[in-house]
Amino acid sequence: MTYINDNYLKLNAGYLFVEIARRVKQFSDENPSAKIIRLGIGDVTEPLGPAVIQAMHAAVDEMAVRSSFRGYGPEQGYDFLREAIAKNDYRSRGIDIDADEIFVSDGSKCDVANILDVFGANNVVAVQDPVYPVYVDTNVMAGHTGPADASGRYGGLVYLPATAENNFVPELPRQRVDLIYLCYPNNPTGMVATKEMLKRWVDYARENGSIILYDAAYEAYITDPSIPHSIFEIEGAREVALEFRSFSKTAGFTGVRCAFTVIPKGLKAKTQDGREAAIHPLWNRRHCTKFNGVSYPVQRGAEAIYSPEGKRQTRETIEFYLTNARLVREALTKLGIQAYGGINAPYVWLKTPGGLSSWDFFDKLLHEAHLVGTPGSGFGTCGEGYFRLSAFNSRANVEEATHRFAKIT
Ligand SMILES: *Cc1c(COP(=O)(O)O)cnc(C)c1O
Repeated sequence: MTYINDNYLKLNAGYLFVEIARRVKQFSDENPSAKIIRLGIGDVTEPLGPAVIQAMHAAVDEMAVRSSFRGYGPEQGYDFLREAIAKNDYRSRGIDIDADEIFVSDGSKCDVANILDVFGANNVVAVQDPVYPVYVDTNVMAGHTGPADASGRYGGLVYLPATAENNFVPELPRQRVDLIYLCYPNNPTGMVATKEMLKRWVDYARENGSIILYDAAYEAYITDPSIPHSIFEIEGAREVALEFRSFSKTAGFTGVRCAFTVIPKGLKAKTQDGREAAIHPLWNRRHCTKFNGVSYPVQRGAEAIYSPEGKRQTRETIEFYLTNARLVREALTKLGIQAYGGINAPYVWLKTPGGLSSWDFFDKLLHEAHLVGTPGSGFGTCGEGYFRLSAFNSRANVEEATHRFAKIT
């Protein structure tokens, strides 16, 4: 018989969102009249902006005519989009990133997973706890970990706790690590990293020959002008970091699919026999071999986000979600519930009242207030006793939800 990849069997079975769906279904089957409001899912709810729609329509029309029809595009993305990204996301902030250091893709989730292709299997990997599960699960699938222990932690990974006790600022690892996943603004905690925090990580990476995998999917939600939008705002980061960005949460592209990864040409690691090797050509080779580019209408839609109207429309939608987040946060705080995040991110991370476990609070919220959120423990051991509420919903639902919070205190 043929062999499977046994590493898949190490994955924790009860996938978080499957278990949530099961509990919600059971409750609504038993209580068919309950009007459930979902503040659980990390998906946008507002439609695409008119500038994006117009650009995509125009691109589809081009595809309908022989003279302007396009087949395969460049695997790395069309120049018009890579230039727009370099100019608006980087050079406008004084960051030195060239268009050919930008690789356009169909999503950050895929990029986060695929990046492991170009790194050796013997690297020591550090993740924050709580964490976006994709970082952990892709390392498990790639065989970079041992089995999970009773608490769900995998052998071989270095976990960096981020809790209220350390103000959600994880300490630098005590041991040397090779790859470090950082996500700011953070999913699930909604917390941000200051320049000083990121500089400590960049300094650590430079001293230890490590590489930082920086996930900035929620960069557009930063409202505090002192908070960096990119790891490359930190001096010296070009030699030790790469960055994932996505149009998913920035411009409602979760169903459209477009993202990009920035790999500076100066980013280097080493071969198994100790010679220096740049990451950029490896990622380029991977991208060209395993990927055939994002569709032309989608890239035109993404380009339109950087037009003056596109920027204004995107901003308005983000402000809308941020107002939702503020309403949720304020309502919780008023009830004496400790709430974090929600200022520079679409997520509010709360400490469960009365010391309830994350799942007990989930059930209480569902049964007593008909609200659905995400148990913090689903994001890691250190998420136990916390709970995530998302701001992706209609204003009416968010306002209704804030009134219902009172039922659980
Ligand atoms: C939503 C999200 C992404 C974006 O994923 P896409 O595949 O681009 O939709 C990346 N990282 C984190 C932490 C996210 O929450």
